[in-house]
Amino acid sequence: MVRFAGVTKRYGELTVLDGLDLQIEEGEKVAIIGPSGSGKSTLLRVLMTLEGIDEGVIEVDGEPLTHMPDASGQLVPANARHLRRVRGKVGMVFQSFNLFPHMNALQNVMEAPVQVLGLSKAEARERAEELLAMVGLEDKLEHFPAQLSGGQQQRVAIARALAMRPKVMLFDEVTSALDPELCGEVLNVIRRLGEAHNLTMLMVTHQMGFAREFADRVCFFHQGRIHEQGSPDELFNNPREERTREFLSAVN
Ligand code: ATP
Ligand code: MG
Repeated sequence: MVRFAGVTKRYGELTVLDGLDLQIEEGEKVAIIGPSGSGKSTLLRVLMTLEGIDEGVIEVDGEPLTHMPDASGQLVPANARHLRRVRGKVGMVFQSFNLFPHMNALQNVMEAPVQVLGLSKAEARERAEELLAMVGLEDKLEHFPAQLSGGQQQRVAIARALAMRPKVMLFDEVTSALDPELCGEVLNVIRRLGEAHNLTMLMVTHQMGFAREFADRVCFFHQGRIHEQGSPDELFNNPREERTREFLSAVN
């Protein structure tokens, strides 16, 4: 469903992604862990096309993000329409919820389906109510972000991303701004939605407990590459690499 092949991303002299290879199957749940500054958020940002890459290929659902075949089948740089279509398969939730402050929960979730997908207001409203009920907010539809707790805001942000019907969902430390109880609430929602929709999920997290429960596979990121990966049991109980052991003993 997602494939990175030899992906390199530089900021000036700094190489943030360094020939990264990563393949994620449909429905797979992958957790990314690793030290601060190792390139985890950048990995998600280039997949969302919020940042370009310098080398390599990123494919979503079998299609390259930055290129498309022309009439003769030759790969040429993607046009805006191709980009929009492929990018539409990916949704993202950030650490800070980024809700529109002047819109209530319902309006936040309805906005992009109406503006970007061209749904009617009635269709978008039905979809939004269904999703907000799924994240347990059926009684908060008219609340504005400032009237919601952090965990509730984060659940609106998740519903908003899902309203675009992505195939792949990216989460970047979605619980690090929350206290432990709200954290559990958001993580439960993510787990339940992942199962219900067979979504492919890629989650950057500093919470090893959650990575262990959530993920089919855990990748330890270090210096712009996947340094080691395996099942949660392999990676947390039997890390092979010294750098992985060092990281895990520091965070636990
Ligand atoms: P953390 O765990 O702290 O969130 P991270 O693994 O997500 O870290 P990134 O945000 O991907 O790390 O950043 C990787 C490196 O790229 C960092 O050294 C950062 O300073 C640098 N970087 C990120 N964005 C930019 C930018 N827009 N311009 C210049 N350097 C950047
Ligand atoms: Mg980050």
